[in-house]
Amino acid sequence: MDQSLPPGLYIVATPIGNLGDITSRAAQTLRGVDYILAEDKRVTAKLLAHVGAKAPMTAYHDHSDDNLREKILADLATKAVALVSDAGTPLISDPGYKLVRAARQAGHAIYTLPGPSAAIAALTLAGLPTDRFLFLGFLPPKSTARREALKEIANVRATLVLYESGPRLGACLADLHGVLGDRDAAVVREITKLHEETVSGALTELAERYAEAPPKGEIVIVVGPPPEPAEVSDEQLDKTLRELLQQLSPSRAAAEAATRLGVPRKRAYARALDLAGKA
Ligand code: SAM
Repeated sequence: MDQSLPPGLYIVATPIGNLGDITSRAAQTLRGVDYILAEDKRVTAKLLAHVGAKAPMTAYHDHSDDNLREKILADLATKAVALVSDAGTPLISDPGYKLVRAARQAGHAIYTLPGPSAAIAALTLAGLPTDRFLFLGFLPPKSTARREALKEIANVRATLVLYESGPRLGACLADLHGVLGDRDAAVVREITKLHEETVSGALTELAERYAEAPPKGEIVIVVGPPPEPAEVSDEQLDKTLRELLQQLSPSRAAAEAATRLGVPRKRAYARALDLAGKA
């Protein structure tokens, strides 16, 4: 018999394919809560049957109306309520953050039960640097907006992790290549499922491979960080600054040189003042 749980919100991560990945604490919690907030009750019903949980379910999305959220918040004072998504960790490109924010503001207990997430699982498979990564979730579906979003983060020195659907994969890879250059990347598909597959390559190769052949199933794209900038010598910096100083003030010439050469603005400004005889 599972012990009864203290009241509060239980954020429960669930498998992203292989039901064996449910943690024993998650299974025990799903059996012990008073009710479960689910994205799609039919999807979660299969998991509940697998772990032998019989708690009733309520459909919840962050765009669910405020009345439902108010009712859940009132319940949290006396009931144990679990939040799950269709697969993986709730709140990660999935509903829940508004509920967690409101529950925290209201002073309710919140417990998290960590477990699978496709983003982290893909990072472990891709063979790309993992020391710094930026999770982008789903990029906009239209190319113009997607390219704008990518331009904003093009200079971030981190591995990128993003979710994408099969039909949009080719176009998304082409935009990644167009904006970020030909970085190393991996397309990680159907993680923990029968047809799990990781295809690594340069963005050009991957964009070409998937242009006319959209793959089936669920997909994470992982893109390596930009290459380290080559060391810029004092001579190179001075040459660029001399040209710019013919038309610009030291401060504007330094800003332009810093952007062009990827050197710190402070370094460019100090040299620009020297060259302009103003140091
Ligand atoms: N909250 C989930 C998590 O923690 O992984 C992600 C939810 S998001 C709505 C669903 C997306 O995650 C899919 O479209 C796909 O990009 C990715 N995804 C989920 N399961 C996956 C799997 N088994 N293999 C590859 N990607 C997966």
